[in-house]
Amino acid sequence: MLRDMKSQASRRRVSAQKPYLTFGAPDIGKEEIGAVTSVLRSSWLGTGPKTHDFEHLVGKYTGAQAACALNSATAALHLSLVGLGIGAGDEVITTPLTFCASANAIIHAGATPVFVDVERDSMNIDPTKIEKAITKKTKAILPVHMAGRPCNMEAIKKLARKHKLFVIEDAAHALGASYKGKKIGSLSDATCFSFYVTKNIITGEGGMITTNDKQFADRVRILSLHGMSKDAWKRYSASGYSHYEVVVPGFKYNLTDLASAIGIEQMKKISRFNARRKKIWDIYSKAFKDLPVVLPAPIPADIEHARHLYTLLIDEKTTGLSRDAFMQALHERGVGSGVHFRPVHLHAYYREHFGYKEGDFPHAEYIGERTVSIPFSSALTDREVSRVIKAVREVIEEHHG
Ligand SMILES: *Cc1c(COP(=O)(O)O)cnc(C)c1O
Repeated sequence: MLRDMKSQASRRRVSAQKPYLTFGAPDIGKEEIGAVTSVLRSSWLGTGPKTHDFEHLVGKYTGAQAACALNSATAALHLSLVGLGIGAGDEVITTPLTFCASANAIIHAGATPVFVDVERDSMNIDPTKIEKAITKKTKAILPVHMAGRPCNMEAIKKLARKHKLFVIEDAAHALGASYKGKKIGSLSDATCFSFYVTKNIITGEGGMITTNDKQFADRVRILSLHGMSKDAWKRYSASGYSHYEVVVPGFKYNLTDLASAIGIEQMKKISRFNARRKKIWDIYSKAFKDLPVVLPAPIPADIEHARHLYTLLIDEKTTGLSRDAFMQALHERGVGSGVHFRPVHLHAYYREHFGYKEGDFPHAEYIGERTVSIPFSSALTDREVSRVIKAVREVIEEHHG
């Protein structure tokens, strides 16, 4: 018993010196902790004034006319589609190199996802291949700003105008990114952000739709809370209780004030967070430039990359070990990593339901087999950055003959 306690204590000591590094650690300070505590003390935990303020901050930051807070980006994608009237019989074009939620949400809305391969370098949907995938049923293009790198929005918007399609951006990676001087979030019919625990800013779980269409924003707001015409916060206003009407069978996608309180503090720090990300990005790029791995593609001068993920491509032939073996070797050195992403079309449901198979989207598959995201977060200390570099270099130098 005593020995157990001792060994536990010594393990903790070791782990306190060398905590396991995850690929996307949240950056939480005493401000967030204080903000949550004060919401708990206020006794209004649900959607209310904090959520309203959080929406205002994200709206202002992105330059969008309206912002609707939701409890995830998945909910944001779903409600964007539903709110724009996309459903059964419709097709939505998206990328296979994304988190499953982008495509699942299309299915939730009753529509069919249609994949278009990515560009090898940018890892984003290839606009030159979109037109071939457009049919009479196509209603929207849903690009994903992979790793925080904005898609070619000019080309995508031009196609959308020509074919009268909506553009719904999955910007789960891209808060802080901009395209030709305009912040992601201000460019299209709907842009969906995520505040999941690994993203650039976090609320635990959370998401947001930004838009320039105020009527669409009103629809989203109603859909996000059961389809009720007035939310609870406004029903219990100074003027007394007022009844609500259910105008549509909506969903339960609202964000709580408890979560929004964290988001408000995170938004106050976003410039600092993204500057820190840029610094670590540059340190990694310099430290790895002589290694037999592929680093993120250079960033063109006319975009601001949100630098959400730092990815390496590990090719067994050139690097000397497989991506999965690389991840395991990092793990053994206390360094976590992630895969963003195994392409959606190769997951069981998509193969079985839509008949997708290997070879359908060669670039997405090439990346999906080789990509690895190493620890990358504004919360990383200089020492931790050095630990990651040391681990990556050691593993590769050991295997590369
Ligand atoms: C994280 C992520 C989502 C989902 O975000 P949630 O807030 O967890 O629902 C959607 N798309 C992409 C590309 C993501 O990385």
